[in-house]
Amino acid sequence: MDRVRESGPIELRVCSGPPWHLEYGVESIGDDYVCRIHGGERHIGAVALSEWRADRATTECLTVSGHKERGIAMHAAHTLCAAGRRSVSCIAGIHFDSLKPNEVESIVETVYALTREAAAALEQRRLSDAIEDSRCLLPRIEGLRGELAREVRELMTVPPRAAPAIVDGFDGRVILFAPLYLCSACSNDCAYCGFRKSASFDRTRLSIEQAVQEARQLARQGHRTIDLVTGEVATDRFVDYVCEATREILADGGIRRVNLNMGALTTEQFRRLKAAGAASYHLYQETYAPQTYFEVHRRGLKRDMAYRLAGAHRAAEAGFESIGLGILLGLHPIEDDLAALAAHARILTEDFPRVRIGFSLPRLQDVDAGCEYSVAAPVGDAEFIQAALFLRRRFPSAHLTVTTRERPEIRDRLVALGATKLSAGVSTAPGGYTLEPSGTPQFEISDRRPLPEIADLVRRSGRTPVYE
Ligand code: SF4
Repeated sequence: MDRVRESGPIELRVCSGPPWHLEYGVESIGDDYVCRIHGGERHIGAVALSEWRADRATTECLTVSGHKERGIAMHAAHTLCAAGRRSVSCIAGIHFDSLKPNEVESIVETVYALTREAAAALEQRRLSDAIEDSRCLLPRIEGLRGELAREVRELMTVPPRAAPAIVDGFDGRVILFAPLYLCSACSNDCAYCGFRKSASFDRTRLSIEQAVQEARQLARQGHRTIDLVTGEVATDRFVDYVCEATREILADGGIRRVNLNMGALTTEQFRRLKAAGAASYHLYQETYAPQTYFEVHRRGLKRDMAYRLAGAHRAAEAGFESIGLGILLGLHPIEDDLAALAAHARILTEDFPRVRIGFSLPRLQDVDAGCEYSVAAPVGDAEFIQAALFLRRRFPSAHLTVTTRERPEIRDRLVALGATKLSAGVSTAPGGYTLEPSGTPQFEISDRRPLPEIADLVRRSGRTPVYE
């Protein structure tokens, strides 16, 4: 497409080049769009109209008798409507004399490719407009970020040894837990993740029985708290599956607290998970910088930055009173994202005073061999510790989780400096505790110490390991 305005009406024009020189254009008609597709002799062969209604595109078409443009007009109107979530009218007319079947096919393929390109532009416009909307949290977060950025800069310069561990309301307790990966299928394509949709491997989804087996194995090791983790599949059916897994694991008796990490959902879906017995919900924004966000979240619901930003609020509305926020360190310069994360936490607790916040700062390490993403803003050990300390000091009553992505020596230091949740004896693969072979892991871990060793580490730091 040769032109996409940054704001205001949209106007896209493209010519497909030889051999067909198809003209493809989309322009705004008020809030809606009209699309024109022409090639050869200009005329009208079909007119399709697609309307965004009840969360889906509904499309109808009128065809001039004897013409064959119905398929491409319907496809374009429907696809563009779904991408832009606005009514779209598509007028198509393509005529070349004496086309052979393979030439017809080549024209149709060319139109489909142009439609995909236009749909990507309309979707990006919709998602960019959404984060500028006054109902979106991003303007509020950005309003606070400047103030907090000064604090981040100041506190990031305090040497870690001089920084006291300020922890309110935990009585020296550190919760030990393990993740239990239920499913490696995901509808998103996050450039940095082993579960991204474009990665080619056999996806695993545990049966309810297998999930209970995994939980039982963790309980045998001494665990009482687990984080159920899945790729993001935001359908009601999938939510039902996680509800059932949660209920059955709790009913089995060994595990007493189930936390969830399964992406952004609707308020109603959160409500069902809460009713099934889930204790807390973790929803990490990864980065608060729109350009980076859109670059790395390439396809799927997670591209909708505004929707994900509001996810923690929806979880709180649904009754979750313990909510985990986080950024993925390595995607974007740390100071910026850290200040935004703190702003998000402050807004969430202002809007929902009963909510207790938890933080996690997963640090992006190596991704799988097939992944073309390389860490854009690497975070060194010292910076990572300073970032955790900033959150510890700024939010003394918040949980601070340190996962096994970190090396033992870093985790040991953070326990001494005020971490309150540690994973132990971890697998990041579905079936990783009992299945042989297990599924593919989401990422490699750096600390393989079993639960008793992590419990000893906590005791040596003068604190008490607890399991729920
Ligand atoms: S980070 Fe989460 S949402 Fe993104 S691909 Fe991985 S599992 Fe899916």
